[in-house]
Amino acid sequence: MTEREKLIVKNVDKVKQLILDAERWIWSHPEVGYTEWQTSGYLLEKFEALGYEPVRADRDPDHGKIPGFYADIDTGRPGPCFCIMGELDALDIANHPESVNGMAHSCGHNGQTAALLGAAAALKEPGALDGLSGKIRLMAVPAEEMIQLEFREELRKKGVIKYNGGKTEFIYRGYFDDVDIAVLVHATSMDVDFYGFKGSNGCIAKVITYKGKSSHAGGAPHLGINAQYAAMLGLQACNDLRETLQEKDSIRFHPIMKGVNCAVNIIPDEMKLESYVRGATMEAMLRENKKFNRALAGGAVAMGAGLTLCDRPGYAPRNHCIPLVEEFEKACTDLVGKDRIKFDYNAWLTSSSDVGDVTMLMPACQISAGGACGKSHGIDFCIKDPERMCVNSAKAQLFLAERLLSDGAAKAKEIIAGYVPPYSSKEAYFEAISQADKLCEAVEYSEDGSITVKV
Ligand SMILES: [Zn+2]
Ligand SMILES: [Zn+2]
Repeated sequence: MTEREKLIVKNVDKVKQLILDAERWIWSHPEVGYTEWQTSGYLLEKFEALGYEPVRADRDPDHGKIPGFYADIDTGRPGPCFCIMGELDALDIANHPESVNGMAHSCGHNGQTAALLGAAAALKEPGALDGLSGKIRLMAVPAEEMIQLEFREELRKKGVIKYNGGKTEFIYRGYFDDVDIAVLVHATSMDVDFYGFKGSNGCIAKVITYKGKSSHAGGAPHLGINAQYAAMLGLQACNDLRETLQEKDSIRFHPIMKGVNCAVNIIPDEMKLESYVRGATMEAMLRENKKFNRALAGGAVAMGAGLTLCDRPGYAPRNHCIPLVEEFEKACTDLVGKDRIKFDYNAWLTSSSDVGDVTMLMPACQISAGGACGKSHGIDFCIKDPERMCVNSAKAQLFLAERLLSDGAAKAKEIIAGYVPPYSSKEAYFEAISQADKLCEAVEYSEDGSITVKV
């Protein structure tokens, strides 16, 4: 460990209680995407007390009010902007024993944001910025989990948001415009202190609505059209398509039925489903999504039901900047030693994150920090060892900042110069993801008996 790294350890240890308190507070106040007002407010208060001047997403004169913010700390010397991100949102998971109002931090984002606060506090300690160039942006981002798709569709209609993913929305609003490199440390239950990987799937977010006709289920089923049965047939067809999927595309399709809103003695006239189509590339996601839509329409046609398809851009595939991951690996090794980390440069995960969208535009990556237990998104998940997950992760991110921004930010400049983004501009990236944007009535019935399917 260098003298500078020893100072970082000392500075973070000094604010350890702030980190541990934040982890507990955010854990006990879970909020889902775009409703994280308490969490954002809690952090804003702490950031302001530390002397930061956060730029708040709810005070953006050009866009709708959403939770989240960013705050910069400038070294006073010119150089790139290095962004540390933390996610604010929890999940709907009512059966988690510690759920509050049906929600819990079953993905451990409470640990990330506690670490973000810790990094912010440690950067205010004496000597923290000595020898660094450029600036550090600390960003609290809402809505990482792509859930409550109908609620987000409402927010879109009202003009509050344009994109379902918080980072995608932040990119759209320009909060990443002057960021050059971005990182995030997520929680993991793996028995390692840090885990690095190559990247992961992207996704398209889908709301699927079958429309039938209500009628007496016992007395007059012949007058009804059963939307639930149409949905079941559509899903059966999707499941039968799975054998046509190719390993290389890493496709995942995991629909949930949202249930009916009528009594048992009524033929259900509506069945809503939500799903993603995940995949390793945008091309693969769009291609397979079309097939799934066709299969879903087949279920509607069989029953004579209607079908509304609402597809929205989810996340871009997460293509980590490998030289940046390598630098992170060195930072983690300095902190905990080689035996306690695992960096697998071939590992492609099948989950998705809007960190993927950030990787489309700049060198960015996500790694994981151990200290959680249970299954991610499971009812047994929690941050068991917050020192390991949150305190270590604040230290590792500041070790990385040191590596990137010291020596006139030489390493950061080298990584930025060597990086070739998948899209040449923000506009080109938004144009590409707009291909996943669709709202249509997929099945039309004509008087002459012909049926038109549009997917
Ligand atoms: Zn998650
Ligand atoms: Zn997560």
